[in-house]
Amino acid sequence: MKTELFIDGKWVPGSEGSFPVLDPSSAETITSVARAGLDNLDAAITAAHAAWPSWAATPPRQRSEILRRAFEAMIARREEIAALITLEMGKSLADATAEVTYAAEYFRWFAEEAVRIGGELRTAPGGANRILTFQRPVGVSLLLTPWNFPAAMATRKVGPALAAGCTAVLKPAEDTPLTALLLADLLAEAGLPNGVLNVLTTDKPGDLVAEALRDERIRKLSFTGSTQVGRLLLAQAAGHIVKSSMELGGNAPFVVLEDADLDAAVEGAMVAKMRNHGQACTAANRFLVHESVAEEFTTKLVSAMRAMPSAPLINERAVTNVEAKVEISGGTVLLGGKRTGQPGFHYPPTVVTDVPRDSVLAREEIFGPVAPIFTIQDDTDAVTFANATEMGLVAYVYTADLGRGFRLSEQLEAGMVGLNRGLVSDPAAPFGGVKESGLGREGGFEGIGEYLETTYVATSW
Ligand code: NAD
Repeated sequence: MKTELFIDGKWVPGSEGSFPVLDPSSAETITSVARAGLDNLDAAITAAHAAWPSWAATPPRQRSEILRRAFEAMIARREEIAALITLEMGKSLADATAEVTYAAEYFRWFAEEAVRIGGELRTAPGGANRILTFQRPVGVSLLLTPWNFPAAMATRKVGPALAAGCTAVLKPAEDTPLTALLLADLLAEAGLPNGVLNVLTTDKPGDLVAEALRDERIRKLSFTGSTQVGRLLLAQAAGHIVKSSMELGGNAPFVVLEDADLDAAVEGAMVAKMRNHGQACTAANRFLVHESVAEEFTTKLVSAMRAMPSAPLINERAVTNVEAKVEISGGTVLLGGKRTGQPGFHYPPTVVTDVPRDSVLAREEIFGPVAPIFTIQDDTDAVTFANATEMGLVAYVYTADLGRGFRLSEQLEAGMVGLNRGLVSDPAAPFGGVKESGLGREGGFEGIGEYLETTYVATSW
């Protein structure tokens, strides 16, 4: 198990000592991990900055093949990586195994994208001038990831950054640093040159990240985490006008119309709500069910939720938060609603009805296994309630009428819509939100563009 910082291809201790990493299922310490100091930060940025010109000049095919080898290594070592994710993050081994596959696919996808970076030649409308565009890597990228998908959130940033020819400093979340360190080791084994990827771990990210954003060698910031921290980082990035991508919080509506296949809707709801035990930015946060089918949907959802095995949340703070949101909101608790007596940070699957539309459960991201169910009267009511939030990451719609589903998709203020599907994440799709859920897209054809700049040459002949 790697527990030191990865700087310029070497494993080095942290200059600020170390911090413990806990197992959420037992609350016991797994190990201690290096705490990076400002001198480590400077060394990491220096290494990334020095490696950048040669990495940017490395033939795309070679960059691609390193990512491809990393993809293959992740698949070959899937069980080992999944076990580490489960250990530090607490998700089930099945969820962790699915995450490794999903995470590895970002390396494969961006291995394929690395060789397709290009430009274009346009003729200006007047006819005489030519507009020639080409793309080049932005530069040293600061990549900040959350704890909920320790592998996938890292590969979704590292993959496109490296494919584009950027070098990077990755800082994983303090609750789950071990997976990121393992990925750095795996990339080095896949042939990544020294300095191209550096990993800094710390449980005191504020000062380190603020200092990084004061360093003019950092030209790109990609952050996944809460809207609150994202807002702070955007202000810090404004100093040097750093190109920024933000994947922030969500408050996803899950709309079930009266013509929906209710069994399919419940199946989709379970994926959208319970993947990662509710700790996903794409998690269904509010169930908006047509009043004529609400009772049947609720009965079926309660029975599916009851059958779910218990799983821990990431830490004690998370349990306290979820518990408080359920308590403050009132309503009728049909299932769960109180923490179980299990060791670690367990909170049970919970279903709540009769909560007001302006309750905390409806307004705030729950980030836990709690399903509040609201009734809607018609499509207009559904869209109005769905859009009554400052967030806009994803929305889900279940209906038998695809035309109606598309109409709603156009009206819902969300970067992604799951139409009769409870899972939207896909390395080949542009993942991201509108409104306060973020800026930019990760994955898809769009993903690599976040790490590229366009230069245009004006000429005439
Ligand atoms: P968080 O904002 O607390 O932390 C995210 C990252 O930011 C971590 O690496 C953390 O160490 C770092 N960080 C925290 N405070 C910082 C500061 N002051 N300065 C610099 N860095 C700081 O979020 P979290 O609790 O780890 O993750 C949960 C949140 O992430 C949820 O809101 C969830 O919706 C969001 N999320 C979004 C997506 C997406 O793609 N939109 C994906 C996963 C999670």
